[in-house]
Amino acid sequence: MATAQRVAVVTGAAQGIGRRVVEALRAEGYAVVVFDRQEVDAPDGGLAVAGDVSAQADVAALAEQVRDRFGRVDVLVNNAGISFIVPAEDTEPEQWRRVLDVNLTGPFLLCREFGRAMLAAGSGSIVNIASVAGLSGVADRAAYNASKHGLIGLTRTLAVEWGGRGVRVNAVCPGWVKTEMDAADQAGGSYTDADIIDHVPSARFATPDDIAQAVAFLADPTRSGFINGVALPVDGGWTADGSWQS
Ligand code: NAD
Repeated sequence: MATAQRVAVVTGAAQGIGRRVVEALRAEGYAVVVFDRQEVDAPDGGLAVAGDVSAQADVAALAEQVRDRFGRVDVLVNNAGISFIVPAEDTEPEQWRRVLDVNLTGPFLLCREFGRAMLAAGSGSIVNIASVAGLSGVADRAAYNASKHGLIGLTRTLAVEWGGRGVRVNAVCPGWVKTEMDAADQAGGSYTDADIIDHVPSARFATPDDIAQAVAFLADPTRSGFINGVALPVDGGWTADGSWQS
């Protein structure tokens, strides 16, 4: 028998944006399932499963555990992602494949697995964490940009295929957020804090909570029930301005 509580699955929940998304969804009353390649404590009333989003067997095992424990899934947040800062001409095919595997094939596998359950139930909301790098070119991120453009394409396609069957699929496109991903990217030397702040009309980095609140909004059918297939920038106006490369 399915639990009466709404259930949300969040990938990449051990740190950064994903960790804050878990807190925001818990505050809204969801039982939250966290899935990460790192060990994470289970949230109160939820579940923690370790695995790799790009491994089909890990994703299938996750879905089985969610089915056994809760018997339902209302929300899926595809947040796990990796990034490399490297000029396109120096990108190794193995790096390219790994970024595409984690950032695009992983969300596809999770959408397929949990989308089937949502379609069977006739309702559900999927939120894919893309990036402003999925909406425009940003130098030295060929694989990352391609993966995030692809994720927005997947989002739109699933929104069209599944919208009539009660399942909404949207993307959130964060601007720059001070997480370990940003620290690692900055260590590569291709940009500084000032470069970001100078080009963001709101003149600051995004916080993990800026992103988490947008996710919680898109997850919730009472607040966003007619929003389907969008790629929502949460970037302080960066994409509206577009002068990053100048
Ligand atoms: P982060 O590196 O701090 O956290 C990423 C999390 O994903 C980690 O917990 C990591 O263990 C997990 N993860 C990575 N690969 C995995 C895999 N194969 N299987 C399971 N888990 C895996 O990153 P973040 O900054 O919190 O980024 C979260 C998402 O937001 C990513 O998709 C990223 O591309 C996107 N994003 C981040 C920024 C930014 O400025 N930080 C901007 C735009 C978009």
